[in-house]
Amino acid sequence: APVSPLVAETEAIVKQFEYTDEDVNRGVKEFLRQMNEGLEKDGTSLAQIPTYVTGVPNGTEKGLYMAVDLGGTNFRVCSVKLNGDGTFNITSAKVAVPKHLMVAKTAQELFAFLALQIKKFLEKHHGDHFEAHIRRRMTVSSPDGYKDEHAFRMGFTFSFPVQQMGINKGTLIRWTKGFDIPDAVGKDVCALLQDEIDRLQLPVKVAALVNDTVGTLMAHSYGAPGTHGAVLGAIFGTGTNGAYLEKLSNLKKPLVGDYDKSTGDMVINIEWGSFDNQLNVLPQTPWDTALNQQSVNPGFQMYEKLVSGMFLGEILRLAINDLMKNPRISFFRDDNSSTNDLRSTTDIAETSPIYKQWAVDSTILSVAAGDHTPELSLLRKELDDSLQIHAAAREDAQAFQAIAAAIGTRAARLSAVAIAAVVLKTGKLTDPAYEGQPIDIGVDGSLVEHYPYFRGTIQKALECVEGIGKEGADRIRIGLAEDGSGVGAALIALVAAGME
Ligand code: ADP
Repeated sequence: APVSPLVAETEAIVKQFEYTDEDVNRGVKEFLRQMNEGLEKDGTSLAQIPTYVTGVPNGTEKGLYMAVDLGGTNFRVCSVKLNGDGTFNITSAKVAVPKHLMVAKTAQELFAFLALQIKKFLEKHHGDHFEAHIRRRMTVSSPDGYKDEHAFRMGFTFSFPVQQMGINKGTLIRWTKGFDIPDAVGKDVCALLQDEIDRLQLPVKVAALVNDTVGTLMAHSYGAPGTHGAVLGAIFGTGTNGAYLEKLSNLKKPLVGDYDKSTGDMVINIEWGSFDNQLNVLPQTPWDTALNQQSVNPGFQMYEKLVSGMFLGEILRLAINDLMKNPRISFFRDDNSSTNDLRSTTDIAETSPIYKQWAVDSTILSVAAGDHTPELSLLRKELDDSLQIHAAAREDAQAFQAIAAAIGTRAARLSAVAIAAVVLKTGKLTDPAYEGQPIDIGVDGSLVEHYPYFRGTIQKALECVEGIGKEGADRIRIGLAEDGSGVGAALIALVAAGME
């Protein structure tokens, strides 16, 4: 049967999002080249930032640690009891950061608020420890609270760009995500937090500055005792990034701070969102180009703009808008020329997010991918509920689903590029110590957690990579890292405490 004009136009769009096996292989080669370049010098596409964390846990770690996470909208405080057998108990509290503090005059105002939340948490959940500490302090003359050996060691996950100078030292490069406190830029964020903790005389030492990908790597290694630990920790959420363990001998650029040299390794924060900003190998459909041009940072984070949750909804919105404007077809709109056309009931509110830049959440890609009902009732309900596209025709929902799938599949196959490159870089597939053993990868983030088939699609793409193949891909285990930001930060605080 001849295909309908709508199907033909949809296929033409879908085709542009194709990312072939050949593309994957070209991507992997370039990723490896850029990884090596980043280990040699500063100012490259992949920043390859040394984290001063020199090993991954093996699951036997024990003790009570604290972790805090300032990610954007919320500040999370938790205590983590590591049981030494790969399990843990976590107690946590979350507060929204007041808007006025995101743009406070001084850094002190924000950090005083954070310290106060830590105090409240300790009073509520660790009253005994807290009381004992206060009593002890009254008999110990040193006013220097955090040198107290009984103090909590705390990992501080701070998801803004920092220049790391040591395991608990790093200066803020710039604020992002709506924060703007110029006074803090260039200052050591760990010292800013420690000062306020000390002002409240809390028994807490900021022991480690943590990137969320490193936390994921650590948490996933701890959670799989008896293995070699994870080879990669990766985030696929609002943004995307990864961290892995590299040999110190491969790290050619100078390191400023002190670190434990005995392991011969260092965890590297790849900052892979900016892979191939020069577009040597990354695909660019007209919609990617438009998105990039309209973004706040054209030419930067080019890989992230094809892969992460913050952008997939907008790529979809742009492609769908083109289909809606296509004069050869009637898509999501009335067709007055035909009296018996069921589409004529479709109605899109003027205020629909489909007309508004950045307003389509990537969640709808997951709904589309997960809808196997014959009439696409789940997707059509979502179109109605979240995009105010009422009574969409089934054919139109099918077109929407096909385009969403093309964008999601490309994102997953591009994710496989980074994962494959890191696996190959570590050489674990051919390492005799790993023979017959799985290669563990810890992942976190709403996209990889909720998009159906995201991990499966990555797994399939890994099979086509030269040097991995079906056999290698079968050994690569991509698992969700449980509570990476809490447990991971606690583990890094533990590692750091061992270095004091
Ligand atoms: P963050 O990365 O900020 O810590 P998340 O991991 O929750 O937070 O990621 C949030 C991002 O994931 C947002 O861009 C959101 O649009 C996207 N997202 C949330 N839920 C889903 C879903 N079910 N499917 C696809 N994307 C989702």
